[in-house]
Amino acid sequence: MQSLNLIVIGGGAAGIFAAIQAKSQNPKASVILLEKTAVLLAKVRVSGGGRCNVTHSCFQPRKLTEFYPRGSKELLGPFHHFSPQNTIDWFQKRGAKLKTEEDGRIFPVTNRSETIIETLLKEAKQLGVDIRIRQRIENIEKSENGFILSLRDKEPVETQKLILATGSSKEGHAWAQKLGHTIEAPVPSLFTFNVPAFKLQELSGIAVPRAGITIDGTAHTQTGPLLITHFGFSGPAALKLSAWAARTLFEKEYKVKLLINWLPDQTEEESMEQLIQLKANSPRKSLQMENPFSLPKNLWKALCTDPKRLNDLTHKELRSLSTKLHRDPYRVEGKTTHKEEFVTCGGIPRREVDFRTMESKLCPGLHFVGEILDVDGVTGGFNFQNAWTTGYLAGTSV
Ligand SMILES: Cc1cc2nc3c(=O)[nH]c(=O)nc-3n(C[C@H](O)[C@H](O)[C@H](O)COP(=O)(O)OP(=O)(O)OC[C@H]3O[C@@H](n4cnc5c(N)ncnc54)[C@H](O)[C@@H]3O)c2cc1C
Repeated sequence: MQSLNLIVIGGGAAGIFAAIQAKSQNPKASVILLEKTAVLLAKVRVSGGGRCNVTHSCFQPRKLTEFYPRGSKELLGPFHHFSPQNTIDWFQKRGAKLKTEEDGRIFPVTNRSETIIETLLKEAKQLGVDIRIRQRIENIEKSENGFILSLRDKEPVETQKLILATGSSKEGHAWAQKLGHTIEAPVPSLFTFNVPAFKLQELSGIAVPRAGITIDGTAHTQTGPLLITHFGFSGPAALKLSAWAARTLFEKEYKVKLLINWLPDQTEEESMEQLIQLKANSPRKSLQMENPFSLPKNLWKALCTDPKRLNDLTHKELRSLSTKLHRDPYRVEGKTTHKEEFVTCGGIPRREVDFRTMESKLCPGLHFVGEILDVDGVTGGFNFQNAWTTGYLAGTSV
């Protein structure tokens, strides 16, 4: 039986990066990467709309951890070892120039994810990582020296160390369970909200620069840019909410009441006061034509449907409008996958892993990197940063 130093299972961002790190630390070690499909780095290719949002320009580890609904505490140490700055340096040193966009997302200057793929695969090849595609692993067993892997139509192989980098794949979870781990049930994260009979449908495409979005009856609330779509709500605020409340939403079968706060930087009382003042100052004007809060014009018209002059609006009517401006209810029934980026919440419980080395606390020699862990970030390059950082730690420690 062939005996190896390290096998990495999974040819995604985390697995390839871990294999590169391991081989660069110890060039004499035998490092093999086994990928089930015929395609390496498939998610890198489609990510960020084909541009690959490699990381985010957030260079303060503690601040960076705030972008992870699951894993923020555990990633603090790892980010001190491999941060977005290390990611940038790593790629730029190998010729992949990166650029930062206004919202902090970092992409290759070429705007092509292929640049990232080529850089990673070239490095792996130069170092001599043995990458094998279309590999069917039928069984993994713990042995005295490490692990024995049974491969379809091939001789079994033995390895001292094993890195599982299989993303959200069920097989990866099953092997981890076999080796003594539990699994946090996987549920989707980063999606948009469907509102049947959406009363704002005609405003599809309008982006509100700042709105609050809350799941009624819970503490889950987010503020930020909100996009009105044909079928409901999207944009950074909605995506952040979907990530932080991923499990709650799953449990509620994506049937919840959302409350939109169109004026999150002031209180309902302040809005009411503003409306009363306006009525006193311009009694003859139509409130609908006034747009006193500078909301997108069509949105204001949809919210303030009463064409009456201000003088003809009762105190009760003004109160009802100010309430609506701060707690506008929408019944959500279902979700839609956000095409630019989605991720799985759940996987290997963080408490079962030593985040200094990414080694299992239950099965010595076994390591986990990337999305197989119960770690996920919001949209913006944070999920790849998790793949690079955990890949780096596992690769250097094995
Ligand atoms: C459409 C889309 C766009 C995205 N865009 C971004 C973005 O712009 N920025 C960002 O930060 N994040 C983005 N993400 C999230 C990011 O792609 C993932 O978090 C990241 O790819 C996880 O890397 P990974 O290596 O852990 O897992 P994966 O990329 O899922 O790789 C796992 C690999 O393991 C292989 N595998 C699975 N089972 C087996 C098996 N039994 N045997 C052998 N191999 C196996 C799979 O085939 C796959 O190649 C996006 C995700 C999607 C789906």
